[in-house]
Amino acid sequence: MELFTPGCLGTCWYGKYHYMEPFIGCAHNCLYCYARFRRNVSAAVREKESDFSKPVLAMEKAALLEEIRKQTADGKIEIVKLCRFTDIFTPPFDADGTSFEILRALAQSPVKRIIITTKGVASPKVLKLIARYPGKFSYNAVAKPIGEFRLEQGPENTRARLEAAAQAKKAGALVTVHMDPVLVGVEDTPELLGPFFDGLKKLGLNRVMFSYLLVNAEIAALIKQNLPAKQANALLARYQQQEIQILPAQDDTAYANLLPELKTESVKRISALLAERGFEYVLCSLKSGKDGVKAGTGCPMCDGKFYA
Ligand code: SF4
Repeated sequence: MELFTPGCLGTCWYGKYHYMEPFIGCAHNCLYCYARFRRNVSAAVREKESDFSKPVLAMEKAALLEEIRKQTADGKIEIVKLCRFTDIFTPPFDADGTSFEILRALAQSPVKRIIITTKGVASPKVLKLIARYPGKFSYNAVAKPIGEFRLEQGPENTRARLEAAAQAKKAGALVTVHMDPVLVGVEDTPELLGPFFDGLKKLGLNRVMFSYLLVNAEIAALIKQNLPAKQANALLARYQQQEIQILPAQDDTAYANLLPELKTESVKRISALLAERGFEYVLCSLKSGKDGVKAGTGCPMCDGKFYA
């Protein structure tokens, strides 16, 4: 695991940004997290003699902050995306101030853009930092309606996440709500979506990117272990049998997609509700747009710039 990695082949921003991975593992521990099954992540977890759900620093803290300053000093890293295999506000490092110190080091560096995507809640200190460098921050709160069950294992803090996002917007950041991953048949009914979108509007949040759960055999096994059989089977029955590799040079990125007709219906439903409320919105083209779903939905696709 490298601290900074250029955007990889097959992603929508190929070559235009760098991922940063300051932690190995993530305490949010979502059941669908693909990161824990990636070879480089599981090797790093083993090397640290840890567990994915108990994140450890990639290196000792002072060295980590120094390395961030060193690697960003020449201005060659322009856009930093946080993070691909963890969450910058993973609870232990958010609580002890490490997340803030990392963000401050990035904000004070020549890096032009810092893209946060999080299931955490920006602290008052982070919000102040955003207010100090508003042009540098894109803040993406992961949030979606709550259905009959959740695959996230952390506390249900959607309201706090969205309120922090609203504060980040007031502080001057570009703010987008990521509805990701949507569970078709569980979180995408009009009864749940309508009030959820109305709630976003009330908070002044008017940009949404959405995408759908992908599954592989390991994720399906975790879902079966953790949900009642009826719910797990109903969810997994909505998926194709075949797994398709998402990223060209990485054979551990193969996942099964939703049955096309279910996805198309869901995209139509979500995009119609967003459009009638005047949202700016896109469907994630990398995870959810590669199988021709656009036909007939009228839903715009993310071109990699929507929340950059
Ligand atoms: S927040 Fe993201 S990185 Fe963390 S466990 Fe959930 S999906 Fe994985």
